[in-house]
Amino acid sequence: MNNFTFNVATDIRFGKDRFEELAQVIEKFGKNVLLVYGGGSIKKNGLYDRVLKELAGVNIIELAGVEPNPRIETVAKGAKLCAENEIDVILAVGGGSTIDCAKAVAAVHGSSTDQPWDVIKKRNYDGPALPIVTILTLAATGSEMNRGAVITNWQTNQKLGMGGQNLLPKVSFLDPQNTFSVGKYQTAAGSADIMSHLFENYFNVTPATDVQDGISEGLMRTVIKNCPIALAAPEDYDARANLMWASTLALNGLTGNGKGGTWSCHAMEHELSAFYDITHGIGLAILTPRWMHHVLNEENAIKFAQYGRNVWGITETVPMLAARMAIQKTYDYFKACGIPMTLPEVGIKDDSKFEVMAKQAVSYSKIATEAFVPLQVEDVVKIYQTSMTEQSYL
Ligand code: NAP
Ligand code: FE
Repeated sequence: MNNFTFNVATDIRFGKDRFEELAQVIEKFGKNVLLVYGGGSIKKNGLYDRVLKELAGVNIIELAGVEPNPRIETVAKGAKLCAENEIDVILAVGGGSTIDCAKAVAAVHGSSTDQPWDVIKKRNYDGPALPIVTILTLAATGSEMNRGAVITNWQTNQKLGMGGQNLLPKVSFLDPQNTFSVGKYQTAAGSADIMSHLFENYFNVTPATDVQDGISEGLMRTVIKNCPIALAAPEDYDARANLMWASTLALNGLTGNGKGGTWSCHAMEHELSAFYDITHGIGLAILTPRWMHHVLNEENAIKFAQYGRNVWGITETVPMLAARMAIQKTYDYFKACGIPMTLPEVGIKDDSKFEVMAKQAVSYSKIATEAFVPLQVEDVVKIYQTSMTEQSYL
């Protein structure tokens, strides 16, 4: 296990009806609030009205309409609102896109720059930042308790991750009831994102990380059990609660600290989103089994077999056979959750951009050098290509 610092001091307020604490939390940071939210789901499910009611005594400026795969123009708009209105605290109410946008707004505002994309391109942000409070509405990214954000620039077809300790939310309200209205597609996509965050850390070259691996396997089993329950019964509190807490723990450092390496499927997925604006978790579900199969070899089959045994209960003892069975289980599970498992089904009809996407995936990340199995441009193209058709791994 490698050295690490684990400092994620987000104050988590988990559970039902913690709303009465909101005003007190916000007022601690000041009177001028930038309320950030997405395309309207919080207006449909009543959350918007409840937030305004609770915050009747504070001055609210709104940044509405944050896109899934949030865009740099929206970030720039938010930073301008912060400067014009002497904002004291940013309240993000929504999924990962809204929270990520709030973080990027805080960073761009803190940089006092008129070149917002430069702040994202730099990737690491250690400057000042307004405090961020979140009310999470979708179990997926873990952004509610981590320092990262992912922002898209359509002019350059780039989707880049950035982050910094000062962007870590100060307080996050996690009420599973706020996810009851999440539809089947986003519930499945969010669950696939959680699984992917766990996979990205689990399949890693650093030896002797039993703690992280054991926690990851437990969280994977949790998602596998609870996503189908939430799909069948969207208001099942316990299923939503388990998905929500799993999403937070999957990417707050708990399962990733102490490990080296980099994230192959996220690097490849960011190019799908950057060029085709597809849903992040869906792209990951499509790529993941193809990536697993592409990187599987005699040496690492034992890790895939461990995943099969501890997550899927596979009893096959020949590592390569168990590994293939585990990859098939992963594929079949995503499909059973209703996820379209090929690229044409999400609107990517031909391979004309695969080469340029693969080059970007390799150049914006360290997947060619530091990954579980390093991937070159031709590997990434191959993984995109096998994502065009149904696959079988047995
Ligand atoms: P999202 O993009 O925030 O939201 C997806 C859709 O779900 C939106 O249309 C949203 O509608 C809707 N939605 C959210 N909550 C809802 C609710 N309670 N009821 C009904 N609909 C609801 O989804 P996400 O998966 O959480 O975030 C994806 C983004 O996060 C991607 O850009 C991805 O790259 C990034 N990401 C970040 C991290 C990180 O660590 N920071 C990690 C992984 C991925 P409205 O817009 O109308 O609210
Ligand atoms: Fe993700």
